[in-house]
Amino acid sequence: MRYYAKPLNRLIGEMSKLPGIGGKTAQRLAFHILSMEDKEAFALAEAIQDAKRSMRYCSVCGNLTESDPCSICSDETRDRSVICVVENARDVVSMEKIREYKGQYHVLHGAISPMDGIGPEDINLKSLITRLQDERVKELILATNPTIEGEATAMYIARLIKPSGIRVTRIAHGVPVGGDLEYADEVTLLKAMEGRREL
Ligand SMILES: [Zn+2]
Repeated sequence: MRYYAKPLNRLIGEMSKLPGIGGKTAQRLAFHILSMEDKEAFALAEAIQDAKRSMRYCSVCGNLTESDPCSICSDETRDRSVICVVENARDVVSMEKIREYKGQYHVLHGAISPMDGIGPEDINLKSLITRLQDERVKELILATNPTIEGEATAMYIARLIKPSGIRVTRIAHGVPVGGDLEYADEVTLLKAMEGRREL
C-alpha cells in the first residue's frame, strides 16, 4: 500500500474493513469516491455520521431505532402476547415485510457459538428473560437462523424458558438450512411462521 499517498491509503484501509470488501474492491471504491463531485462524496460521509449519531438499539427489544423504545415496542396496537426472537436487526425488517406478524420482537445480536467463544452471556438474552416477567407474554417464537449456531441458540433458549410455562415454538424449515433469515423471500418466511412447531 506504500504506492498511495497517506489520505488515500487511509480511505482504502477503512473501506477494506467493511464486510465482503476485499483489497481490490476497497481500492476501486476509494478511487471512485475521490472521482465523485465534492457534494456527493461529502453527502456520503455525512450520511454515515448522521446514521451513526442518531440510530441506537432499542432498550426493550434491541432493534435498531431512532427513538427509544422503538416504534414496534411503543405501538400499543401490536400484540403483546407473542415475542419473535431473531439474531439481527435486519431480520426484523424481513419479518415486517411479510406483514402478517403483529407481535413483538427481541433481537439477540448474534447466536451462541462455542467454536467462536460466544456464549449465552455474550448475546442479548438477559433482557429477554426480564421481558418474560410480563404476564401478557404467552408465546416465544424462535426465529434464529437455520444454521448450527441458530439451532443451538434456539435449543438453549427453549430449555431455559420452557419451565416457565410460556409456549415456545420454532419456525419451520421453509428457510433453507444454512441460510440467513434475511435472504429468505417473503412467501418462504410466511410459510416458516405458519408452520412453526412446539418445542
Ligand atoms: Zn423495541
